[in-house]
Amino acid sequence: MPTETSTHATDATDTPASAGAAADEADPSTGTGDGGEVPVDGDGALRLLDVEGAPEGTFGELEPPSPPLIDAQGRVRLSFSRIDTYRKCPRKFRYAYIDRLPTEPGPHLSFGTSLHGALEAFYDRKLPDCPSKEDLLGFLYDAWDPTGFVGEPREEQLRFYRHAQDVLRRFHDRAAPSYRLPAATEAWFELPIAYEAVVVGSIDRVDVDDEGRFHVIDYKTNRKLKDRARVAGSLQLALYALACRHLYGALPATVSLDFVVPGVAVTVPLEDLDLEGARAAVLETAAAVRDEAFAPTPNPLCGWCDFRAACPAWEGEGPELLGPSVERLRRLRRSIVRDVRELRELEAGVDRLSGELDENP
Ligand code: SF4
Repeated sequence: MPTETSTHATDATDTPASAGAAADEADPSTGTGDGGEVPVDGDGALRLLDVEGAPEGTFGELEPPSPPLIDAQGRVRLSFSRIDTYRKCPRKFRYAYIDRLPTEPGPHLSFGTSLHGALEAFYDRKLPDCPSKEDLLGFLYDAWDPTGFVGEPREEQLRFYRHAQDVLRRFHDRAAPSYRLPAATEAWFELPIAYEAVVVGSIDRVDVDDEGRFHVIDYKTNRKLKDRARVAGSLQLALYALACRHLYGALPATVSLDFVVPGVAVTVPLEDLDLEGARAAVLETAAAVRDEAFAPTPNPLCGWCDFRAACPAWEGEGPELLGPSVERLRRLRRSIVRDVRELRELEAGVDRLSGELDENP
């Protein structure tokens, strides 16, 4: 299955976009969704517990101030995986990041997330002593993400787990002799590009050598190797190089893709990267997203696309979409109700207590 498992299970660019999703037809100027009365408490406050059908604006400052993908400065908020998705199929981008249709994680994504978690723990240390192989396997145990195995037989999950253990044993053999603490693991960045876009993401690892030069490393957890030419042409690595300069004030000397399953790291010097091309790709994608250009683009990966059932370009069956979306909506509403109830109870308790303290100082 050609799923890229190098990116993390959670797209860190995600923002809560659906708090007011039940009220697409709402009129924010009046605060009423359908001409009806806004539910109001005795003290004049909106009754937040009425989540079902709550009109836009009900949740006040908690609601996103701008449309999904556009930040407060009007910049399109992108990540490497968003740009990559857009370039493969703009319609898929829309389903995933604007319509926010939920997708099932799947075993390969969980496998990749778990390996990333174990490797982060392996390098995110206070002292420069290399953790043992057993430690590394323990990090895998702690980081194991079972969400992609829901509905799968237990043996399937065990098969992936044992495979991950083997991969990490080999990684340890390779990494232990030259182990040193990196400058950063999971280095989060928000990289502005020409006031038009901001690229967000996190770099798996940033090393610093004895001369103070940076080296950017990204882990890949699928089987396929890429040759040097393809690594040099990687949009992701070019963006990470720009992000390194944004974070630490200097471009990296090298960038690497570490293919942890076959156990090979492919490294290229900075000079081989196309940094201007990467900036242009970001700006081009940002402009197209602003123009709402989301044409379906059939491609060899359509057969694995989660959104086939909705796509006008796909002929045939696809995984069910509406059911999971509605179920997710229900779960979010239930969780909001719980949170608001707890918030109100806590507010009332704090009010009571501060009143008592004022009376009996
Ligand atoms: S099925 Fe193909 S064309 Fe349709 S959204 Fe998915 S990737 Fe795009």
